[in-house]
Amino acid sequence: MNAQIEDRVAVVTGGSSGIGFETLRLLLGEGAKVAFCGRDDDRLASALAALQGEYPEAEILAQRCDVLQEEQVKQFAAAVAERFGGVDMLINNAGQGFVAHFADTPREAWLHEAELKLFGVINPLQAFLPWLERSDIASVTCVNSLLALQPEEHMIATSAARAALLNMTLTLSKDLVEKGIRVNSILLGMVESGQWRRRFENRTDKSQSWPQWTGEIARKRGIPMGRLGKPQEPAQALLFLASPLASFTTGAALDVSGGFCRHL
Ligand code: NDP
Repeated sequence: MNAQIEDRVAVVTGGSSGIGFETLRLLLGEGAKVAFCGRDDDRLASALAALQGEYPEAEILAQRCDVLQEEQVKQFAAAVAERFGGVDMLINNAGQGFVAHFADTPREAWLHEAELKLFGVINPLQAFLPWLERSDIASVTCVNSLLALQPEEHMIATSAARAALLNMTLTLSKDLVEKGIRVNSILLGMVESGQWRRRFENRTDKSQSWPQWTGEIARKRGIPMGRLGKPQEPAQALLFLASPLASFTTGAALDVSGGFCRHL
């Protein structure tokens, strides 16, 4: 199926690893021009080199930008507009979770989670909105978590902040519909990517391999499909929602959790 995004411009925040990186690969495979950001120069450079290696003819912009720094986001948007002359799809992916129960969650972590989940979307949306308004296929797609609807005690701050993001995303979909901008999100379960790799590297029991370690997490948590997701799987959902394939869909939250979802 053709995603109808050839020569269109997609922006992915946090594209230097994991789900964001796989999303860029899919977008490029469909002929889109892409821009992505991250905070670490080395990770950006190696992601850019890998994408250029796979798609030597493609138009790709990589820029260092922390989505929580409003000025940096404005500069990123200006660079994208100058290079590509517009933006059709904004994919808000940058972020990470905070693992702690209530007793171990300091005030700073609450504030940071709230800031990351909300302003990680608000800053890019404000910066790219003038360009999205001019696109005839405009979309905003947010990476969110199943925690928004199914909170976990060991991620209390992230769960609450994710719920706020889901709430905001639905309101944005109503607010922006008259400008022709669709707003959707995906609700992730557990997906193999940078966050899990870092937790694997810091594990106390080093006897387990990656497949054993992730398989045990899936079993212990009761993921019906018996495994963590691969980053390509949420990337496919993001490509669908961001592209005109989902032209009659706005305000949706698509579950990508391997059946982990238990709410109605
Ligand atoms: P990764 O750590 O592999 O990727 C995160 C990406 O975001 C990196 O490119 C990172 O680059 C970038 N990033 C992080 N913070 C910022 C920031 N403030 N500004 C700009 N870029 C940033 O993780 P995932 O692929 O797993 O995560 C992608 C999204 O999915 C995140 O929002 C995460 O919270 C969410 N998610 C993931 C789940 C999972 O199981 N994997 C579950 C639920 C949600 P750099 O560090 O260089 O800035």
